[in-house]
Amino acid sequence: MREKDDAGRWVDGRTQLVGLIGYGIDYTLSPAMHNAAFRARGMNWIYVPLRVPPGELTDAVKGLRAMGFRGANVTVPHKLEAARLADELRGDASLLGAVNNLLVEGERLLGYNTDAEGFQSFMEEEGIEAEGQPVLIVGAGGAARAVALAVARKGASHIFIVNRTEERAREAAGLLKRGITSTEIRVERPGREAGEILRRSRLVVNCTPVDAFDEGMLPHPLDGLREGGWAVDLKYGPRESPLLRQAAGWGARIADGSGMLIHQAAASFRVWTGEEPPLAEMRDAYLRALEGNVEDKAGKDAEA
Ligand code: NAP
Repeated sequence: MREKDDAGRWVDGRTQLVGLIGYGIDYTLSPAMHNAAFRARGMNWIYVPLRVPPGELTDAVKGLRAMGFRGANVTVPHKLEAARLADELRGDASLLGAVNNLLVEGERLLGYNTDAEGFQSFMEEEGIEAEGQPVLIVGAGGAARAVALAVARKGASHIFIVNRTEERAREAAGLLKRGITSTEIRVERPGREAGEILRRSRLVVNCTPVDAFDEGMLPHPLDGLREGGWAVDLKYGPRESPLLRQAAGWGARIADGSGMLIHQAAASFRVWTGEEPPLAEMRDAYLRALEGNVEDKAGKDAEA
């Protein structure tokens, strides 16, 4: 166990580097989780934010190699481009066509995606069952695709994808069908059709940034979810999700995206270090950082 933290000397010439490549990441909680994990394991590693504007990813990735980084998480807006830049896609990254985690292995850059694994571990932790059940996924972006993969692995009978842009939902379904054979995947029209599906579903997952749906998307309020069903909103943060509040009002069990976030981070830790992540410490750090962000933002609002 390294004991240098209090003296502020825990970064030295041998410190191993990892980080987060993204844009608009001022309030990311990932450095808190990963640095807590490294400290808990007594590892001489550090996780830093790497603010990379759109259009600069190619240079940033070259820089990772040149500066001896072990790897980096990748977030908005770079996940798709990172998949194109990787020398090889491993695991779910090739099916999803998106990378949220890069590993530098000598001269090679390996692309991983730990979002599906994160959602699966979250389901296990919460006791969310999908076996033999229909699941409604709202959204068709990277997160929706990862969630679809996770629930298919958990034995969902059907996956219904509802998206604002139907064409994109069809694209997502086509891509997923290449890797998912045991679960039927269907694209449903927003509105009344989606409402019918909701009434048959056991689990609905909001994989869009929207807080509440209008009538054209899903019934409003979110009624009709089967008794005892689950509503999950992938957003996370201190603010209560209006969508989850509605769903709870209809007797659904609810969860936000923090479980998925923590578990995808844990999976990234495993990829870079080859070691088991200290989950409890990562979760504590997440909660403390979230509280810190709330205080920071409140301070800023007060100054304004
Ligand atoms: P993305 O690839 O950009 O996809 C965004 C999705 O949201 C698309 O389906 C888009 O529909 C839909 N959308 C956006 N604005 C909308 C609106 N006003 N009305 C209806 N639909 C709208 O983003 P992503 O990476 O999948 O992320 C989606 C959400 O999941 C974000 O809130 C993100 O923070 C969250 N997330 C959470 C985790 C976690 O670990 N908890 C991980 C990843 C993502 P169109 O196709 O019609 O544009």
